[in-house]
Amino acid sequence: MTETQFRTICAVLLKTHFGLELDDTTLADDYAEGGVQGADVYHAINQLAHRFDLQRIDDLKNQPLTLKDQVATMRSSSITYIQSEQPTQCPVCGSRTDLIEVSNTVQLHDCLNRTCQLAFISTAN
Ligand SMILES: [Zn+2]
Repeated sequence: MTETQFRTICAVLLKTHFGLELDDTTLADDYAEGGVQGADVYHAINQLAHRFDLQRIDDLKNQPLTLKDQVATMRSSSITYIQSEQPTQCPVCGSRTDLIEVSNTVQLHDCLNRTCQLAFISTAN
């Protein structure tokens, strides 16, 4: 995941679920310092929420965010989204990707090329 993508997804998730701005948190600094890696942004936010005892504004039970929350944010933020039935390579650089199964038909990919790092969603028809 690129830094731009990380910042975008973080900002939307924080605003939507906690009513916070990205700059209200340490997440951007954590990312810059290498403390947050991979494509599971929701996990980094859950850790932050736990550490600072943050309350969700949209869930009285204050449940942790899930990968589905993140994917919904990526869709609404127009993070690269492709439809494919083939094992997917990065659409920008063609490198292999790490992938996380979101559901039977949806996967979150993270390009393994360190100079690319594009995160994108693929879905089967
Ligand atoms: Zn790539």
